[in-house]
Amino acid sequence: MLSYNETPIQGIEGQRLDEFGVRLYIKREDLNHPYVSGNKWWKLKYNLLEAKTGEHKTLLTFGGAYSNHIYATAAAAKEEGFNCIGVIRGEETLPLNDTLSFARNCGMQLHYVSRGAYKTKTDESFLLDLKEKFGPFYFIPEGGTNNLAIKGVKEFTESLLSFSFDYVCVPVGTGGTMAGLIGGLYGRQQIVGYSVLKGGEFQKEEVRQLLELTPCDDPGNWQLLTTYHHGGYGKVSEELLVFLTDFERQHNFSLDPIYTGKMMWGIFEDIKRGVFRKGSTILALHTGGLQGWSGLR
Ligand SMILES: *Cc1c(COP(=O)(O)O)cnc(C)c1O
Repeated sequence: MLSYNETPIQGIEGQRLDEFGVRLYIKREDLNHPYVSGNKWWKLKYNLLEAKTGEHKTLLTFGGAYSNHIYATAAAAKEEGFNCIGVIRGEETLPLNDTLSFARNCGMQLHYVSRGAYKTKTDESFLLDLKEKFGPFYFIPEGGTNNLAIKGVKEFTESLLSFSFDYVCVPVGTGGTMAGLIGGLYGRQQIVGYSVLKGGEFQKEEVRQLLELTPCDDPGNWQLLTTYHHGGYGKVSEELLVFLTDFERQHNFSLDPIYTGKMMWGIFEDIKRGVFRKGSTILALHTGGLQGWSGLR
């Protein structure tokens, strides 16, 4: 089993919070593992067990050149003794960026595919070609999202229930983590997702579809907010960078610029807009991903 460090729930102080009568806490899941951090740990947990049970020697997965998922999977494969192949979107650029050089140093074999071909990655023929090229492997989809990832996030969600809160906030990429939270809370608290993509409306349908894997009927106690993307996936605005620097100075820990930073920006905006009931307690999830800073430098 992957090593796991217990993580705290930490209070966030702030004038605006007092002004609007809400309490804000953050679950520091970024601290759960030095390399397989945040939600990626939980998304990989049962996939690694399944690969082991099936006596697979090799993991294969997909991602972009700065992907937290590629980084985490490479580290997990190393720790658990799997060979690992990363199918990377786009051409190779040398020298390798920090994410890919970390992955390679973990032993991940990098296989580049053109952006055009990458779009067809969910076609059966694409996977069959990879099997022919690399031999048998245990397949983990882009972002790690599948039914076993959701099972892991549900287990994590149960660990939150000893804390009393009204809202749980999470950044949303593929929606796998959000679906796991909805399934794990089973209608209890409100789940608020913050899309990190431009035009994230379509993600509502994706979350709904992923809920079928939880497996639970949509309890309806969730919303996905789509206006805090700061220009789109992997993009940051000047204001966001200022916000993140201030946040770090005030609270003595970092958010990442691609996911948790946009969520926290959105939470503060939503507190102003009155999205959260007066007197309520908000629990934000720090889903990790701090290696993502290296891509901005
Ligand atoms: C991958 C990732 C997410 C997105 O998770 P999904 O399950 O794909 O929605 C959120 N935060 C961080 C830090 C991530 O690395």
